[in-house]
Amino acid sequence: MKGYIHSIESCGTVDGPGLRYIVFTQGCLLRCQFCHNPDTWAIGSGKEITVDEIIKDLTSYLPFIQASNGGITVSGGEPLLQLDFLLELFTECKKLGIHTTIDTSGGCYSQEESFQKKLAKVLELTDLILLDLKHINNEKHIKLTGKTNKHILEFARYLSEKNTPVWVRHVLVPGITDNIDDLKQLKDFINELNNVEKIEVLPYHKLGVYKWKALGLRYPLEGVEPPTTEMVQVTNNILLS
Ligand code: SF4
Repeated sequence: MKGYIHSIESCGTVDGPGLRYIVFTQGCLLRCQFCHNPDTWAIGSGKEITVDEIIKDLTSYLPFIQASNGGITVSGGEPLLQLDFLLELFTECKKLGIHTTIDTSGGCYSQEESFQKKLAKVLELTDLILLDLKHINNEKHIKLTGKTNKHILEFARYLSEKNTPVWVRHVLVPGITDNIDDLKQLKDFINELNNVEKIEVLPYHKLGVYKWKALGLRYPLEGVEPPTTEMVQVTNNILLS
């Protein structure tokens, strides 16, 4: 089984508990204005890699990863676009007792039967989902990502019904995702879920802007600066309280 990946980071520290071996998959259906990996968008391109190759490489870091109570995180792009690959990868990881995490926006979640069947199997092998909720307001979500949030909120409810542990992540972009009423509404939505172990506010940054330029794309958030410490604090107070 081969997957299409963008890159691998052998010792990440922010995408799940402990040290993480992070596989960035290739392909995404959303077009977030703040995306710092626009080079992961194209579907069916990227580097082809086998599960065996990943496991072999991952095994060499395993002593450090397991000593830190870490594991593997599959990020993106959108990992759920490659469910067959995820299933085989996590099956092998579980044979080695490795903690498994998926970092997803849920952007390709669907009721389609074969997607549902494969997703259910993958989730049986998944210890944690990092769920990126971009915007609770549907119209603003469409403007920010190019897609509706309806199926994404449905995905969040589905994970709650399944009792899959979730860390919710929200990127804080001044003037776009920092409206107090929207944040309160997001918090109300999160409160309806019974599986959220942690909420993380991720301050917007401009580290990926050069990639947009390299791809010949106009950067939509030109002139938007990262949030102030105070703004992050206010958001933390609303979402983490
Ligand atoms: S979901 Fe992630 S990879 Fe896809 S566009 Fe948004 S930030 Fe970029």
